[in-house]
Amino acid sequence: MAFILFFVGMIAYLAYFTSFERKKISVHPSNRRLDHLESEIVRGTIYDTNGVVLAITENDQRKYPFGSLYAHSVGYANQGKNGAEALVNTELLYPDYTLKSIFENAFFEEPFMGRDVVLTIEHTLQQSAEEGLKNKKGAVVILEASTGKIFAMYSNPTFNPNNLSSNWEYLIKDDVNSPLVNRVTQGLYPPGSIFKILPSIAYLQNEFKEPFTHVCEGSITKGEHTIRCFNGTAHGEVDLKAAFEKSCNTYFIALEEYISPQSLQNLAEKLLFNKTLPTEIETSKSRLSIKGEDSFNVLASYMGQGKTLVSPMHMAMLSSLIINDGVLMEPYIFDYSMSKKGSIRLKNLPSYHSAYLQEEITTQMQQMMIGVVEKGTATAIKRSDIIIGGKTGTAQNETSEDHSWFVGFAYPENRKEEAIAFAVIVENGGKGAQALNVTRTIIDAYAKTKK
Ligand SMILES: [Zn+2]
Repeated sequence: MAFILFFVGMIAYLAYFTSFERKKISVHPSNRRLDHLESEIVRGTIYDTNGVVLAITENDQRKYPFGSLYAHSVGYANQGKNGAEALVNTELLYPDYTLKSIFENAFFEEPFMGRDVVLTIEHTLQQSAEEGLKNKKGAVVILEASTGKIFAMYSNPTFNPNNLSSNWEYLIKDDVNSPLVNRVTQGLYPPGSIFKILPSIAYLQNEFKEPFTHVCEGSITKGEHTIRCFNGTAHGEVDLKAAFEKSCNTYFIALEEYISPQSLQNLAEKLLFNKTLPTEIETSKSRLSIKGEDSFNVLASYMGQGKTLVSPMHMAMLSSLIINDGVLMEPYIFDYSMSKKGSIRLKNLPSYHSAYLQEEITTQMQQMMIGVVEKGTATAIKRSDIIIGGKTGTAQNETSEDHSWFVGFAYPENRKEEAIAFAVIVENGGKGAQALNVTRTIIDAYAKTKK
């Protein structure tokens, strides 16, 4: 008899939960009512794609086993919420209802466990980004081109989320290093020569009767402005491919007679400049205005100077749509949530946007970007087991030393469908093209995952 009473009680409790509590729980992440649930529910664990624990709650404490490594991607939940902790808050606090957990909650006031969350992150690639950017300011983002999965997102300087509340006052005041800023998504930088990807696409979309070639003498004068190639190097007669591989400034300036500022602006906006990026990770808009600028800024825009500013996330997306034959996949970091027993509760699926570029254009761009590594400005990272394509950039900025960029893609030979797309920036790393060193470290780690 006692057993039956107990059982009826439990059914009633279960019914109460399904009809009332669920409503309370399935609320928007920003809803304040979720916060009070935190005292009743143990926040779920966050894993990388291979089961490495990235965040866990033990003894009422949120812990981040890798300290500063995931400060900007996993984020934190102990000083407000940020990063994936904010993005998937609802899942992490979604009670894992089982007969056992309901029983324990009802009779022993045991808290419910939230769902566990698996991110798209590949821990070894994230570590390689940290290693590459050691003692450097900058950002690395690595995407899987065919899905948009974010494999790595690292920003330096960083901070340790384990002792965030005690360091908070200090961190928010640090304007020199801005450690709380995720440079991948919130950093806006002049693109320098990586921008040459855009006039190149514009060129390829125009069907010129004769290929446009230009004899580079190391500098070009237009009106009252003289623009030089890097170190004043004269590149001789160059066509688009050679100019792209060698990053010849004068060629791209000369191209202005064939590709109008208006058409370059139109293409850039089609490729998400001045637009909100389609991704679940909030990202600053890249800025570009060519039309209506003074003549110097118009010209400078063709080689990525001028007033253009881009986020690393945007540049990785641009590389990704080039290697993915013109189709852009939305970058995402939340893969799925699961119950404590391991059954999947909510799964994020890759979502694509209709083709941004025709395949015949992206195929040519892929070849040009591979040419940069084969025989252009990035031969330092060439290797036999992995095909790498990309574009180097040295971006002048008015206040300090040049920034160093490399954006591109990589894949094992004949396995293009497994390609990663990435963007690397090293602030003030212009000398010695430091972004290439960081890229090399990342590709080493990537090659190991492909063996
Ligand atoms: Zn040149």
